[in-house]
Amino acid sequence: MESGLEVELEEWRARMPGLGLAAYRGQQIFRALQQDGVSGWDQVRQLKPEDRQRLAAAFSIHWPSIAQRVRSEDGTIRYLLELSDGKRVEAVYLPDEEFDSDGKLLHKRTTFCVSSQVGCAVNCQFCLTATLGLSRSLTAAEIVGQVQVLLREHGLRPGRGLDRVNLVFMGQGEPFLNYANLVRALRVLTSDEGAGLAARRITVSTSGIVDKIRRWGKEEFPRGRPRLAISLNASHDEQRQWLMPLHHGQGGMAGLLAAVREYPYQLREYITFEYVLLAGVNDSDEDAARVLELLRGVRAKVNLIAWNMGGGLPFSSPERERVLAFQSRLVAGGVATYIRRPRGRDIYAACGQLAAVGSTGGC
Ligand code: SAH
Ligand code: SF4
Repeated sequence: MESGLEVELEEWRARMPGLGLAAYRGQQIFRALQQDGVSGWDQVRQLKPEDRQRLAAAFSIHWPSIAQRVRSEDGTIRYLLELSDGKRVEAVYLPDEEFDSDGKLLHKRTTFCVSSQVGCAVNCQFCLTATLGLSRSLTAAEIVGQVQVLLREHGLRPGRGLDRVNLVFMGQGEPFLNYANLVRALRVLTSDEGAGLAARRITVSTSGIVDKIRRWGKEEFPRGRPRLAISLNASHDEQRQWLMPLHHGQGGMAGLLAAVREYPYQLREYITFEYVLLAGVNDSDEDAARVLELLRGVRAKVNLIAWNMGGGLPFSSPERERVLAFQSRLVAGGVATYIRRPRGRDIYAACGQLAAVGSTGGC
């Protein structure tokens, strides 16, 4: 049965006549699902019982359930979410506070890191998710459900007060290998009549699926296109082929950078390049120089992430001095470069650690 959770507002409107309902009912239904979070059609009180029954016969409503919560000492919470077929994915809640120069609390900010697939097929050597392999992609309804369940868990009411909520697709999976479902879910989540998430506060992170990067640049989003991040993680082709063995044959790093150079940037838009620093592998000054060369003339920002260990993978994290030296090389070359603070490492919630391991305990 089709899931009601992934139907867009305009689609509901268009389908009303076929269900014998007036067009305005489409908006009521969309709001009931995406703002009130109803879990059954019988809860949509505005509709007559026979109309609810007709909807129930055609559309399912299934929200993911929270199977486990694990809380870090830094406030991060890792969630294990269970889908309708019993498969499980992880998502992470990252609370943050912003202060002014006098140390006064300006506002609280919330980031949710969510998954696009159960496991991942890309097989990056340094990533724990890769050890799971790909089980399956999430449906658009499951992506929407994952976000909505987290919003509700944190008392964040859809459609209101969500201007400080960030969403990053940096959990399990390669979002651009689940492209159509991702785009559909984002259209639903950014609708004003739904969760009302701001597109500029959403980031989709890809390992570099070049044809989808090009397609993303042309994608129509009524509320603006979410931001793009690319996991670069290497400074030359041979290194990247080894670390991120994508089998897409799309022209290697030159093909990737060509797509980035031709990307139709929006006003003030830049692409974030993530770079996981692996001690003695990709963290030398020569690597930094090559990265600078690659990014010359690109509207780029770089996020450096010192490798988070896990699962017996054969890498180590560079010393702090090396990370700082790598950063200053890039900054000296004119590229805005930031060091990502690891969050939730103690509960295996940090980047690349999402593989349902260390899930002991709960909160
Ligand atoms: N599949 C997508 C999004 C999920 S991974 C992608 O690869 O972009 C999110 C980020 O975590 C990526 O930038 C990835 O390079 C990084 N990452 C993976 N394993 C890591 C680890 N062990 N330590 C730090 N970052 C890691
Ligand atoms: Fe998949 Fe991203 Fe992990 Fe690579 S880094 S295996 S693409 S989740």
